[in-house]
Amino acid sequence: MNKQNQGKAKAIVGANWGDEGKGKITDILAADADIVVRFQGGANAGHTILNKYGKFALHQLPSGIFYDDVVNIIGNGCALNIDALIKEIEKVHEGAPNLDIKLLIDHRVQLTLPHHMLLDSLEDTRRGEREFGSTKSGIAPFYSDKYIKEGIQLNEIFDGTHLKSRLKYLYEKVNLILKHVYNADEVDYMQVYENLCRHTDFAGKHLTDASLYLRKHISCGKNILLEGQLGALRDPDFGIYPYVTSSHTLAGFAAVGAGVPPYAITDILAVTKAYSSCVGAGPFVSEIFDKPASELREKGGDAGEYGATTGRPRRVGYFDVVATRHGAVSQGATGLALTGLDVLSYMDEIPVCVAYEINGKRTEDFAYSYLLDRAKPIYEYLPGFKQDIRHIRKFADLPEKAKAYVRFIEEHIGIPIVMLSNGPKRDEIIEM
Ligand code: GDP
Repeated sequence: MNKQNQGKAKAIVGANWGDEGKGKITDILAADADIVVRFQGGANAGHTILNKYGKFALHQLPSGIFYDDVVNIIGNGCALNIDALIKEIEKVHEGAPNLDIKLLIDHRVQLTLPHHMLLDSLEDTRRGEREFGSTKSGIAPFYSDKYIKEGIQLNEIFDGTHLKSRLKYLYEKVNLILKHVYNADEVDYMQVYENLCRHTDFAGKHLTDASLYLRKHISCGKNILLEGQLGALRDPDFGIYPYVTSSHTLAGFAAVGAGVPPYAITDILAVTKAYSSCVGAGPFVSEIFDKPASELREKGGDAGEYGATTGRPRRVGYFDVVATRHGAVSQGATGLALTGLDVLSYMDEIPVCVAYEINGKRTEDFAYSYLLDRAKPIYEYLPGFKQDIRHIRKFADLPEKAKAYVRFIEEHIGIPIVMLSNGPKRDEIIEM
């Protein structure tokens, strides 16, 4: 490919534990994009979007679907649950009946199968108190099958004989595990086969070679958004292992999970909230509890901080510079999008975690998970701005104390804030 003529690919990824507001930011930026690609993860997380059609929780669909002229791609790095995807499209059409969703699905993407969900739930039950807080969408068993080379790629469902023999072999082993490890009912591979065969029409309509498609469109100057799921702190290598997801949540993986040349990704926008929230287990040093937590949880997000997929109350806390800097740097962020500034307007003073105390020593560096469990947050306190700011559209018009808070975060992270969001709706965005 000639690098001179290439279009731009911008990754929109999370700097924290997920739920940073990537869906909203992608929905806004998609207005100027040609293609939006999901490159990892599956139906386990949700992106909440409020726009002219209403409120939507997207799980597998890329957040560019609300524009008629944007092509949306589910990339090879994702975990595709076809049944759930069909339901998700139906749900979107309930709110936006005339929306013409332009969706392509990569032919190499692998499929989430019934035993993935089953094993996810059985394993969390077996772990009891040591559970990871899985959404039980089958993600860990799915990626396990992929990397032990037993997963099924979407292209395989178009050859019945081949598919049947692959499933027969796969379920011989799966059933041994179900029966002997978990004492659970076995799965009839023929039912799985028949269900997949029912989806060949749907899949056939959307099937593409995404990598080829993207390379072609990059070389003719198209703008591409690569939309991440969850955040850097849930990355299996750079996150809070083992309390992580099973696919790489980093922009670096977008090249692999979407099938674009790494050098085509020229911008990396790391999204972070003006406070912290986290679904699921694992260390969260600036977490708060009791009344301050319930107050922040109720005021946060678009209708409180509750999981878009599970409805679970999210753990909440103050902004954590140490974790966010680690997350943003791991992402290779060229810019930050700060969301949820409006949420802080009730606070008299706003605590920001600027360092940790671990084993009696102050550190500004992120640490291994078992050390994070012992870390105590060290706070600086900034004055609250105490007024509603959702109507403001220019940085210059923000109250001085709100500006100071934003600049404090920017300086401490060391990456420019290029977008500032002050409400869940599409137009609630401040020009920097
Ligand atoms: P994602 O997975 O990163 O897209 O994030 P989620 O959609 O799971 O969670 C983000 C939550 O914050 C959703 O409820 C959004 O509607 C909401 N949100 C996004 N930006 C803002 C903002 O600037 N202010 C407020 N109050 N809520 C926001």
